[in-house]
Amino acid sequence: MKFDKYHITPELKRSLSELGFLKPTDIQFKSIPQILSGQDILAIAQTGTGKTAAFAIPIISMLQNQRYREAEQNVSALIMVPTRELAIQIKNVFDDLAQHSAIETLAIIGGVDIEPQILKLQQGVDVLVATPGRVVDLVHKGNLNLKKINFLVLDEADHMLDKGFYADIQNLLKFLPRKRQTMFFSATINETIKDLAYALVSKPVRIQLSPKDPVSKNVDHAVIFVAMDDKRFFLERVINEHSDKKILVFVRTKVRAERVFKAMERVGIVSATLHGDVEQEQRFEVLEAFREGKTKVLIATDVSSRGIDVKGVEYVVNYDLPDVAENYVHRVGRTGRGNHKGLAISFCSDEEKPMLTEIETYLTKPIKTMTLQHTDYEETLAISEDNPHDWRALMKEANEEPVKKKKK
Ligand code: ADP
Ligand code: MG
Repeated sequence: MKFDKYHITPELKRSLSELGFLKPTDIQFKSIPQILSGQDILAIAQTGTGKTAAFAIPIISMLQNQRYREAEQNVSALIMVPTRELAIQIKNVFDDLAQHSAIETLAIIGGVDIEPQILKLQQGVDVLVATPGRVVDLVHKGNLNLKKINFLVLDEADHMLDKGFYADIQNLLKFLPRKRQTMFFSATINETIKDLAYALVSKPVRIQLSPKDPVSKNVDHAVIFVAMDDKRFFLERVINEHSDKKILVFVRTKVRAERVFKAMERVGIVSATLHGDVEQEQRFEVLEAFREGKTKVLIATDVSSRGIDVKGVEYVVNYDLPDVAENYVHRVGRTGRGNHKGLAISFCSDEEKPMLTEIETYLTKPIKTMTLQHTDYEETLAISEDNPHDWRALMKEANEEPVKKKKK
């Protein structure tokens, strides 16, 4: 079924066609009619399957019809997400889809000036995409009234209902009207979170696609066993062998992100880092440069593991395994998005083997292992310009030496 056949506004159909969205993805096909009919839903579908538009399309259509009826502008949809970058990204999806509709959107995020957000709220906003902390601030300061919210979406729902955010979400729910439509979207979910979600809504419809394998079918993923100290040589090799590709590298901590950045710099590889200690303005700039392809290698912590949709990321490297098993699914899911294919490789050291087992238990299947011959392993270390034991470089030097002398 094509989007033409949906009961959505003509302006929205026009935007969809301009964006090249001809027909809905599976999750969109299943969710859009349910949302349009007023249902609460819990939707689980793999990474990169178009969950954003699955809620944005029906919300924009319903908001537009509502705006036809009542000219008054109210904050009517609240989309909650875990990171600031994701808030901006989703706001942009709403803007693209609503470009021919009179729908005002705003991202409410921390780490940036609050005043412009307050000003924009005063001018009238229909859709807010937000990280919880700043919404709590604005509500408590009296600058944001959530009483007219019709639609609440928790994207990355399992994460939003998990320890770090749950208190804020609970707090905010007190300010929302009881009569509203609530939607949960995620690629991963567990029983505890499911119960929490069900406790917040009445009779939600559950839509779950491909529950057997949480990793997107578009992602070819494998693990390679590498000693902790040798990881940088393997990263260098992966990057050099795919120098024309965008590569997203995940590390365990902020400190390690900077270290890996420096190690790459020493061998002449340009990269950028994105983690919680990078200033917010710079975080946006770094991600923008990666989106535009000006930066080819981005070294990030799990702050970028969820939801981020960057065109052309063909390779994900788990330089370190994630601390939390489900983050494996989210990290490798930064590639293989839409109908693109992607590759993901994880470096696993001896110390990380218990974590690998945990991830495989979570996935309910082993991850393919890439076995390296001993010589291959040695060669990877040897071809690095940074390696003191680089026999090739030594031989090259030895060979060049007499030539230089002859010239004199
Ligand atoms: P998810 O939230 O499921 O991980 P996103 O909503 O970020 O996925 O979408 C993944 C990619 O798919 C985006 O680049 C988006 O533009 C694209 N996309 C979404 N819906 C469609 C569609 N119906 N047709 C073509 N591309 C789509
Ligand atoms: Mg998403």
